[in-house]
Amino acid sequence: MTDSRAALRRLLEGNRRWAAGRLEHQNQTVARRLQLAPRQDPFALVFSCIDSRVPPEIIFDQGAGDLFVIRTGGQALDELAVLGSIEFCPVEFESCRLIVVLGHERCGAITAAAGSLSDGRPARGHIQAVVQALRPAYETAAGQPGDLIENMVRAQVRLTVQALKENSRLAEIDGLLITGGRYGMESGLVEIIV
Ligand SMILES: [Zn+2]
Repeated sequence: MTDSRAALRRLLEGNRRWAAGRLEHQNQTVARRLQLAPRQDPFALVFSCIDSRVPPEIIFDQGAGDLFVIRTGGQALDELAVLGSIEFCPVEFESCRLIVVLGHERCGAITAAAGSLSDGRPARGHIQAVVQALRPAYETAAGQPGDLIENMVRAQVRLTVQALKENSRLAEIDGLLITGGRYGMESGLVEIIV
């Protein structure tokens, strides 16, 4: 079993390399691919946004076989395939004892959801499912002073971490650390906020 605190340190050290422009590109070799061919033992799960500017393997400077990655708009959580996929990783893989929920500055999904919810105007098609999933974060942020979108980004991370901590299946797993961070677009740094 991987120590969850050591796993978090490993992720954040990789993030500092990314922020400083000193990527090591570990585990991106043919040898690594062949090593992984029969099995995998990722050390963390990152649940983050679909935003093209925030690819987890790159911003944490990790390689093949290192991370489980689940991405939805605004890291919106559901009670179906997304939650099932999150549960699957630590349940099936003892190596994975860290879940990081990662939001980011200037999130387009959160900005769009805030617009839709403040206007009372539903989004088109299944985008509305994302908007609905982000409603609790909107309602939390709407009552706070300061920038609505930034507050909503942070609220969405906190509420998602809280929901995962309250998940009965995840609560059964010994040594599982569930934490949340916020990524800065210019700095490239992940700040742990919960
Ligand atoms: Zn986003």
